[in-house]
Amino acid sequence: MAEHYEAVVIGGGPAGLTAGIYLMRAGINTILLEKGIVGGSPLMTEHVENYPGFPDGIAGKDLMARMAEQAKRFGLVIREFTGVEKIGRSEEQFEIEHGEGVFAANGVVVAVGTESAKLGIPGETEFAGRGVSYCATCDGMFFRNAKVAVVGGGDAAIQEALTLANLASQVYIVHRRGELRAQKILQDRVFERGNMTVLWSRVPWEIKGKDQVESMVLKDTVTGEMTEMAVDGVFFYVGSHPSTAFLGNLVDRDEAGFILTEEDLTTRTPGLFVAGDARKKLLRQVTTAVGDGALAAVGLERYLLQTR
Ligand code: NAP
Repeated sequence: MAEHYEAVVIGGGPAGLTAGIYLMRAGINTILLEKGIVGGSPLMTEHVENYPGFPDGIAGKDLMARMAEQAKRFGLVIREFTGVEKIGRSEEQFEIEHGEGVFAANGVVVAVGTESAKLGIPGETEFAGRGVSYCATCDGMFFRNAKVAVVGGGDAAIQEALTLANLASQVYIVHRRGELRAQKILQDRVFERGNMTVLWSRVPWEIKGKDQVESMVLKDTVTGEMTEMAVDGVFFYVGSHPSTAFLGNLVDRDEAGFILTEEDLTTRTPGLFVAGDARKKLLRQVTTAVGDGALAAVGLERYLLQTR
């Protein structure tokens, strides 16, 4: 028989944990399901310095440990498991299917975040874990005094390139055009560092090596010229996308796969709310994820009161 909760929160990043805190404080029996490690994408950020309340900044993992501790203090049940496979909807309830069984719930908050995009160039998959990485905070220590390349010009790329610059001897930022997308304060730090070089208007073409990454071939996006540079590691930050196939047609999505919500975070399915980076939105930050979590939880609380 399905284990029953009034609310199921799917995803244990800032949006999901905030929804859990609000739902538990509203007296709603809630379980949070996380398919990896509770904490979400801030776990991959060494230092978060734009989340208010921490004047000196805080390590991403410490911030998330605090949020999880706070949620548990209000009695939130958190279960780390293999992931949700499908959600069914009957008149009375949602059925959340996972590898080990089914949870039944009266309402759901989906806060699954996003996953790193892959470029799909030769060598990227072959050298994954052998010089190719998507997380400098996790793998940077393997590149002490090494030469590394970071691909991308957004906040994630530049923030993680700055983390790598504390360890590696040289950090190359490979960006496809002549201007970075990242916040100005992050850009300024790059230009102040002696061991960081931006390779403008270049895209990675191939990653080469024997057992480990040894070099990367780059194509100039203006001239078409190909060059090969020696590097020990390549970190990709070329955007991210949500994995929401398990929601089937319970939600609408934009062309990139982000879920469309109303302003109050409702979806086309009554009782199903979406919070955080997985939804189509203007700004993906811990601050906005936390706001989403609160809004979705309060919306779900009202929905449950109306349908009880
Ligand atoms: P993003 O902002 O979408 O940036 C992706 C970068 O990859 C862009 O510079 C893009 O180039 C480049 N790119 C995309 N496809 C490419 C391709 N095929 N070949 C080469 N380069 C390619 O993604 P993100 O940096 O992962 O950030 C995702 C969201 O999280 C953003 O909203 C960001 O603000 C937020 N975030 C915030 C922080 C923070 O505040 N500290 C940290 C991490 C993430 P173009 O610029 O030319 O499009």
